Formats: sequence, C-alpha cells, structure tokens
Amino acid sequence: MNKSFSIELRRFLLILVITALVGFWLNNVLICSLIGLSIYVIWTFYNIYILARWFPRLESTPPPESIGFWGALCDELYRYQHNNESEKNKLRADVAYLRDSFASLHDAVVMVDRLGGIEWCNDAARPILGLSLDKDYGQTLTHLLREPQFIQFFDSGNYADSIKVHSLHKPNSVLRVQITRFGQGNRLVFARDITEIARLEGMRRDFVSNVSHELRTPLTVITGYIDNFHLLTEQMPALQNPLNQMAQQAERMEQLIKDLLDLSKLETKPNEVHRTPVSISDLSQVVLEEARARCRADNMHRSLALDVEQPISILGQESELHSALSNLVINACKYTEENGSIHICVGLDDQGGYFSVLDNGVGIDPTHIPRLTERFYRIDKSRSFDTGGTGLGLAIVKRILLRHDSSLEITSQLGKGSEFICRFPKHRLISH
Ligand code: ADP
Repeated sequence: MNKSFSIELRRFLLILVITALVGFWLNNVLICSLIGLSIYVIWTFYNIYILARWFPRLESTPPPESIGFWGALCDELYRYQHNNESEKNKLRADVAYLRDSFASLHDAVVMVDRLGGIEWCNDAARPILGLSLDKDYGQTLTHLLREPQFIQFFDSGNYADSIKVHSLHKPNSVLRVQITRFGQGNRLVFARDITEIARLEGMRRDFVSNVSHELRTPLTVITGYIDNFHLLTEQMPALQNPLNQMAQQAERMEQLIKDLLDLSKLETKPNEVHRTPVSISDLSQVVLEEARARCRADNMHRSLALDVEQPISILGQESELHSALSNLVINACKYTEENGSIHICVGLDDQGGYFSVLDNGVGIDPTHIPRLTERFYRIDKSRSFDTGGTGLGLAIVKRILLRHDSSLEITSQLGKGSEFICRFPKHRLISH
C-alpha cells in the first residue's frame, strides 16, 4: 500500500511538472498547471465514485479494475474483507459445533447473559429444568428457577463448588448444579439429574446406620458376658488371655460402631444455621486436658502444650467441634512415639482463624495425604490396629469442618512429624 501511494504521489508530481513545462512552452504556466491539476482531481473523483459504487457489493463482487493507488486500495479492501469473512465463517462453525455438542448433552446447559437473561439452552433443559428456548429466551433465569438454594448460589458469584438442589420443576428429583463464567460476565449453568445417585447414597447411609444400630445390642450382650467371665479367671487362669483379647476386640468394635453412627449422623443431619459462639481457645484447653488424661490412662508419655496466640470464637456446634479437635489431638498422641511432643496452637492469620496440632511423630508419606480423610483409609493397618484406630477419625473431622465452612490442611514429613491445621473462614469468626 505504501509503495503504491508513493507511486501515486510521483504520478501527481509528474503531471504537475509536465503541465508546467507545457505551460512554460505556451507561455502560460499557471493556466496549464491548473488544467493538469483539474484533470488529476477529476480522475481521482472518478475513482472515488467507482470505489463508492463497489463498496456495498464488496462481499459478492470482485474489485473493479483501477490503476495505481486506487486499484491497490480496492484489492487491499477486497483481501481484507475476504479474510474477515473466512474468520467469521470459522467462528460461526465453531459456535455451531459447540452448540451442537452442548445440545447433544444429557445434562441441561443454559447460557445466561450479564444481566441473568437466558440466551440459549439445550434440549435437555426442558425435562430437567422445565426451560425451553422458544418460550423462555430473554427471560431472567432466577424468575423461572425459583429454588431458594439455586437463587442464592446464582447470586453469590462464588462458583468454586457445585451444589445439590431439590428441584421444584420435578418434585422428588435432585439436581447437581454447576456454574461457570465466560465472555463478558456471561454464565453457563449446568444441571445434572442425580436423583438415582442420591437415592442410592441415601440407601447406603441408611444401611450403615441401621447395621450399626443393630450391632449395638448383641455387642452389649457379648461385653456383658465377657465382664462376667472375667470373674471366673481366678479358677481358670488359662481363660485370662483369651478373655482379655475378646474384651479388647469388643471395645474396638464398640468404637467402630460409635464412629460409624457419628459419621452417618453428620451425613444425614441437615446443616443447621449456627448462631452459638464456640470458643476454640477454651475448647482447645478442654481437649488438651482430656488428651493428657488419656495419655496417663494408657501409660503413654507425651509432652502436650497449648499456645493461644489469639483467642478465637466461631459460630458453630460445640459438640461437633469438640469431637473434631479432640480427634486430631488424640491422633497426634497415637502416632507419636514415647516422649514425643505435641504442640497445639490457636490464632488468627490473613486467611481467618486456625487451630493447629503439630507433632514430632512417625509422619506420613506425602503420597498418602490426599486420601487420609477417606473412610477407612489407613496407612499402616497394623499400627492403626495397635493404636485402636478405626480409620474413620479424619473422615469425621473433615465432615465436621465442612459443616462449618472450614477446611483441614495436612503437612507431614515421614519420620519427622505432621501438622494438621483446621482453618475457620472469616465469616464464621466472632471478634473478641
Ligand atoms: P485411625 O482411626 O486409623 O487413626 P484416622 O482417620 O484418624 O484413622 O487416621 C487415618 C490415618 O492417618 C491413620 O491410620 C494414620 O495412619 C494417619 N494419621 C492420622 N493422624 C496422624 C498423625 N498425627 N501422624 C501420623 N499419621 C497420622
């Protein structure tokens, strides 16, 4: 383009020079130069006219034949438009491809604009959410999906996790809803019907809870008999060892049933709105004393210390929090060798409140850390067996913390020790 412009400039100057020379020869430089200039202006207007005529048909007609700068300009415009058109076609094809793939999904997909209006939804949105593009296009999504939990989630803007919603459109059905952002404030809402999964999950929970309940009564009878048989060991000393083992196993089973029932209660109980302040610092003191008493009773020598850097209280359920903190401190005692030390710390940092338990015990290989809070996950089954573990402790801790919008952080080095940190979010904290 630059090249043809400089050629054009040279052409203009050449016309001026030639007409000036002719004018000089005819003895009238000014008039001849003006005539030359006029010819150039007329030619330029002619080219502008051709360009203006062609421009509206730019997409369908090839560029007009022009010489010099104007020809190059038309060619350049035509090339630009052509490239633009192929880019647009490619984009159109991509959008159509994406829409087709969303349309074929079994999950409902709804595209929502910046103001919450429905821009597009796939066919599955009709059976799952009761939405259809023909009748609901442009409508505000939260005016159509009236589930309070969904509205709260949609308006919160925090879409890190998905939520489970009981559908109003199809009573007794359960949906898993996920939202992601795209474009300029647009949102993509995915909803999956998980009624069947939720039903099976409920059945599993009920089964575990019923079995645990049913096992309780026979176990009470067995432990009763074991206690009575202990009275006979004076006459039959050979019974002493087997009876001790039976008592130990019965105690383990009792603990297992208790943990299973606790976990199933935590899973089934609705997450109530907590309004009671619970002092984590005071609870830590209680947990510390209990752990010391337990160590004394089990003849374990551990040095336990509590450091309250800043007293904190959170809105929560005291007995649940007691159980979580106690589980962590008792674990630290169990997985620390003789004369090991355990340091509990309570305080505040920029993430919120925390309760941490640091030990210099056996430690954990980092590969196990992500799975520690799974039910029945134990690293060393024989060690857990020795310590009377059930493999449910950390699963209970995680569940309790989740019910308090809190999380568990684990860091550890094999052979050096571990640190378990409960993190309480700022919105749960109560200022002292
Ligand atoms: P358990 O009843 O077996 O202790 P938990 O769920 O409480 O079950 O813990 C799961 C596993 O995590 C334990 O088996 C143990 O291997 C490991 N663990 C928990 N706490 C600690 C700790 N403080 N130090 C080292 N390992 C630990």
